[in-house]
Amino acid sequence: MDMLGAFDSNVRKTPAKDFLRQDGESVTYADAFEHTRRAAAALRDLGVRSGDRVALMCFNTTGFVYAMFGAWRLGATVVPVNHKLQAPEVDRILGHCRASVCIADGALGPVLDGLRTSLRLATTDSRHDGLAHFDDLVAAAEGIDGTAPAESDPAEILYTSGTTGAPKGCVHSHRGVTLTAMVAALGLSITREERLLMAVPIWHASPLNNWLMSTTYMGGTVVLLREYHPQKFLETAAQERITLCFGPPVIYTTAMNAVPDFDSYDLSAVRGWIYGGGPIGADVARRLVDSYRTDRFFQVYGMTETGPLGSVLYPEEQVSKAGSIGREALPGVDMRVVRPDGADAADGEVGEIWLRTETVMLGYLDAPGATAEAFAQGNWYRTGDIARVDEDGYLFIVDRAKDVIITGGENVYSKEVEDAITAHPDVLDVAVIGRPHPEWGQTVVAHVVIREGAAVNGDTLRAFLTDRLARYKVPRGYVFAAAIPRTPSGKAQKHLLRTA
Ligand code: ATP
Ligand code: MG
Repeated sequence: MDMLGAFDSNVRKTPAKDFLRQDGESVTYADAFEHTRRAAAALRDLGVRSGDRVALMCFNTTGFVYAMFGAWRLGATVVPVNHKLQAPEVDRILGHCRASVCIADGALGPVLDGLRTSLRLATTDSRHDGLAHFDDLVAAAEGIDGTAPAESDPAEILYTSGTTGAPKGCVHSHRGVTLTAMVAALGLSITREERLLMAVPIWHASPLNNWLMSTTYMGGTVVLLREYHPQKFLETAAQERITLCFGPPVIYTTAMNAVPDFDSYDLSAVRGWIYGGGPIGADVARRLVDSYRTDRFFQVYGMTETGPLGSVLYPEEQVSKAGSIGREALPGVDMRVVRPDGADAADGEVGEIWLRTETVMLGYLDAPGATAEAFAQGNWYRTGDIARVDEDGYLFIVDRAKDVIITGGENVYSKEVEDAITAHPDVLDVAVIGRPHPEWGQTVVAHVVIREGAAVNGDTLRAFLTDRLARYKVPRGYVFAAAIPRTPSGKAQKHLLRTA
């Protein structure tokens, strides 16, 4: 059971069918097969051997896909790297996973020039002075089949977003990657008719493992958009008769808000707009349904460690249960909300979400301690997300366990306080943390970014919050900052505020 085998089998079944589309050009399954065989040879010529790690730092391009399958043909492990990172961040990841070769988009030249890690670099898509061009090497190579990887071999090392600390490398086996594709395919009824729009960075766990892999597994077509751009996104969705798309909520709201002739795009072929990474409120859900003239919105919840798919909020629940991550785990996934005493939380109670799934990582790379800590009662993965179960059994995330503040014995969910502060019209951004306090354990402190020129201070905010939050939740301290440190996907990095 491996994705390479599934891909090769689709090549035999439907060689002439479009596998990839980019900028209006098609690559059939048969063509892509040949490219992946040549990519394997090109990587071999760059020195890649079985067991090596190949970093891929690319925009959404065919080169990424060829290099990934090419590396698998050699028995190598791929390490997709966020192309928005700066050189020291990339060095940290490349050094941590000991990659021997990195295929990177030539447009990232300045970052590539700044790398200190010693490894072989080749560019894809754009060129960059002094570096071998992978696309040329692929074009010139004589393809090789390579050897099918073993199910238990590592297929990928995916780094987490680094929201709560340094990114951790999650090692996924070929079996895990394949099962993740199957879970997504079952959960969202993906078929060979699927035309997936890849509009968000391909190196993220969900676009890659859930959506690209499931569409590939089922023999559908993947349309690559090099980078998200609201108008291009709509144009491509309409012209390519896209049936399925995934991204964070912001790609849908931006398109709806920023493109003046939004209504003129024919999006009628789309049967699923999937979003994940963060919930949307009832108002936004309603506006999305109105603007996109369909209720076909699916919200997914998961994390890099679990493949990532965990649970889903289906279209008919979008508005009535807006903000929830759903009630049911996907097929093949078990989900519990667990109280601190280890018992299941009853309706109305709060607990940590645990997931049990065969798609879970083998472990964190070179971190047996962290891996052991991440699992409980055998094979339940502890997500670190705290959720409340409502009277109908729907889960609502209230905070991350690491962000819950305990002050004078009371639990304060940072997210609730942030939501209350965000309601202030002069507040642009906010992150709420606990600061150690000798008497109360912690006190609540808000880091706030305010609109330029606004007359807002700690007293104003305190007064604003008094009738919105219980007294113990109202921040005692206010830090006015120019910006809140955030991950490229927009999550507040509170560990940086705690150590500042
Ligand atoms: P790190 O583990 O490095 O601190 P991270 O947890 O943000 O970073 P990811 O694996 O990219 O890294 O993100 C998974 C997390 O994102 C989940 O644990 C959860 O907190 C949040 N998340 C994912 N999907 C949703 C969703 N649909 N609604 C709310 N939160 C979500
Ligand atoms: Mg995490």
